[in-house]
This record gives sequence, structure tokens and C-alpha cells, in this order.
Amino acid sequence: MRIHHLNCGTINVPGGVSLIGTGGLLRRATGVTHCILVESGDGLLLVDTGIGTRDCLSPTIFMRWMLAIGGSPRDVHETAIEQVKRLGYEPRDVHHITLTHFHFDHAGGLPDFPHAKVHIYNKEYEALTQPEDMYERYPYRSEHWAHNPRWVIHESVGDQWFGFDCTPLVDLGSIAFLFVPLPGHTRGNCAVALRSQDGWLLHCGDTYTFHGEVDPVSPRLPPYSRSLRHLVNLNKAFRRIGDHSSRLRALIVEHGDEVELTCSHDPREFEKFFEPT
Ligand SMILES: [Zn+2]
Repeated sequence: MRIHHLNCGTINVPGGVSLIGTGGLLRRATGVTHCILVESGDGLLLVDTGIGTRDCLSPTIFMRWMLAIGGSPRDVHETAIEQVKRLGYEPRDVHHITLTHFHFDHAGGLPDFPHAKVHIYNKEYEALTQPEDMYERYPYRSEHWAHNPRWVIHESVGDQWFGFDCTPLVDLGSIAFLFVPLPGHTRGNCAVALRSQDGWLLHCGDTYTFHGEVDPVSPRLPPYSRSLRHLVNLNKAFRRIGDHSSRLRALIVEHGDEVELTCSHDPREFEKFFEPT
């Protein structure tokens, strides 16, 4: 059983130093979109998809604009489907996709895997299908689910994972997963917890965006974040980023020998896991 760490969308964000800690106040910050591909007992499991083929080659006007703001190179070689092929698999081998949330940089690759089951937390599915405001309407793009994915909706029914509420464990043989709801970045934002023979790996998506936020020894926000985040993120839900950091730090302190953490966009965290093939 192998775990592949893929960058499925380089970003070069103006003011991004306040999000991911690289770059400068006036320089764009270069980051990644960290996706995970795992061999399971039932085909491949992909955690988040990054951006997809259509968004690279023929994006809608909105997506062209959004990807330009984020400084995306729109490099088709970075898409999950191209990396799956380079690793020697077929796109149809991806049987399961789990999403931390449905923002376009995490779900844009879904149409490249129309046969996969798409696992999503029920509150995020509700935000997607019954948006309540512009922050739920615009970052969720209909072209990313127009192919009518094979949804598998997960709900919390009282299970616990290291003191966090979670959805029931799904066992796929060599790997198992569950969702840990951490609302704030979006209504149904989750971390995806993967259990392998090496222990637990918690993909936190955009719950936090800079490794210093969950550093149990010297916790810190990225430079300028207090002022810049409020300028960039006018959305109330976005402003709650960081609410969960103290609980994640406590998780590392108490269970750091059993659980590893990563988020989506921090390049230094990605380098820790990435192994060139
Ligand atoms: Zn993101």
C-alpha cells in the first residue's frame, strides 16, 4: 500500500504571505494544492482533486478570472488525472474521492473521474445544493458536479475520534477513512482522517493554511495575517479560520505519535510528505 502526495494546483497568491507564510508583503506567495492518492482494497482513494482538466484548458470566464487571481499556471500536468496516469494507473482505477470541502480548488478535478464515488460531509452537500449566500454560491462551481457524481453523503451520528466528533469509519481494506467536521472555512468544512499501517494522517484542507498555526511548541500566525486576512476575506465564515487550531495543537501534543497533520496549501508541509517517483 502506497500513499502518494500530489500537488494538484500551484498557486501564486498576492498577499498570500498572510495565508501560507511564503513570499512578501508585495510579492506573490507560492503554494501548492496538496492532494493524497492511496491504494486501497477497493481501487484508488483520492483526497481532494485540485483543479481539473477543463479549468486548465477551457475554463469558464469566472474560473479563468479566479485562477488568474490565484496565480495558477493552469498546468494540465498538475491535474490529478495526469498524475494518476503518470503513476501507471488508469483514471477508472480511482474508485473513491473524499472532499475536505467543495471549493473549486479542491473539487475542480471531479469531472475527470466521473466513475468514482464522491464522499462528502452532509453539511457541505447542503451548502453546495442549497447555498445561503454569495460565499456559498460563487466558490462552488456547477460545472464541477454537472456530471452528476455518485455521491456518498456522510453524517455524524455520535462517533468520536481522539475527542473530535466524526462520521463513521469507512474501511477500504488497507486504508480506512472518516470525516472530522471542522466548520468555519465553509459550512461543512472537514478534515479527512486516513488510517493506514503507519497510523493516522489528518488532511485538514483549508482549516488552517500555515504550519505555524498548529505548531505545538511556538504557535504563530503567518506574517501580516491579522490585517491582511480581514482585507482579503470579507466572508464571516472565512474569518473563523484558526478557531480549530488550538484543538489541533492539543491533538499533536497528546497523540503526535499516532497522528500526522497536513493542510492543503502550505508548501513546507507538502515538502515534508512529498517523495519524487
Ligand atoms: Zn483551498
